[in-house]
Amino acid sequence: MIEARNVIKKYGSVTALDDFSVEIPKGKIGILGPNGAGKSTFVKIALGLITANSGNVTVLGENLDKNSIDIRRKIGYMPEHDCIPNHLSGVEFLIEMGLVSGMDTPSATQRTHEILGHLQMGEEKYRKIEEYSGGMRQKIKLAQGLIHGPEIIFLDEPTSGLDPKARHEMLDTINGLTKVSNTNVLLSTHILQDVETVCDYVIIVNNGKLQMKESVKELMKKQNDFIQVRLGGDIDGFANILKNKKINLLSDGRTLRVPYLNEDTFQQIIDAAVESKCQLYEMERSKVTMDNVYLEVIE
Ligand code: ADP
Repeated sequence: MIEARNVIKKYGSVTALDDFSVEIPKGKIGILGPNGAGKSTFVKIALGLITANSGNVTVLGENLDKNSIDIRRKIGYMPEHDCIPNHLSGVEFLIEMGLVSGMDTPSATQRTHEILGHLQMGEEKYRKIEEYSGGMRQKIKLAQGLIHGPEIIFLDEPTSGLDPKARHEMLDTINGLTKVSNTNVLLSTHILQDVETVCDYVIIVNNGKLQMKESVKELMKKQNDFIQVRLGGDIDGFANILKNKKINLLSDGRTLRVPYLNEDTFQQIIDAAVESKCQLYEMERSKVTMDNVYLEVIE
């Protein structure tokens, strides 16, 4: 669906993409990475908004910097920042966007009501956008990216700034809409759970390079569950004792995570705590989440 080959992008002395290559399959793909990793730069090059110093990016087999109208018709974009006119109603804005993308008025009107119906906007769609809640504004931004029936939509931080309820609604909406219209998704976010909820593939970018590309299902299957441990005292000593037993601890700075191998792992933790004279406050078995995978890859 998207292919990058040996892309280098520099802003002055900063190298944002450093010989970056990836082949992204069709489906719903999450792009993750810390701030400054190069995600937006990659997305902007793929969208043809900026050009790379060298290398090449194609979307649906075509290069966007050639300004091809045909390929642009197949792509939708939901930007992170607000870009919607407050003085129009949701319906007026979407019809306008449909017209801009080349639809005639009857088709743009029909498509607008179809999409807003899927988004469950109800009568709110006739109200001015300035009166919308954060969740509704995001819905309208998503709808404008889908109005022309694209094959692929780029979503940049679609749940950014939403409260938990609105966030879940947005994720459900993305899942629902893409199922109905069969649209492929490239979701750029720093919220790992969003990727777990929506995507079937994930790519992780760090320091301008591809760090990992995996099916989300396979990734989760491959990971061990773990035991979350809270303890005080000589944590390095505790870690070394487990290391000698070939059990490697992971730490996110606050809690320690010990891979769960079987029920004996609990006893091994207790023994290591006794031997290192640590105080063991808490042990709890946890399921692997995208957060754990991410921390392992990025650390
Ligand atoms: P991400 O989206 O993963 O946070 P970006 O692609 O925005 O990362 O940024 C990658 C690197 O490029 C960062 O070091 C960032 O500061 C730098 N950068 C991005 N855009 C510009 C720009 N317009 N001018 C200068 N440096 C930039």
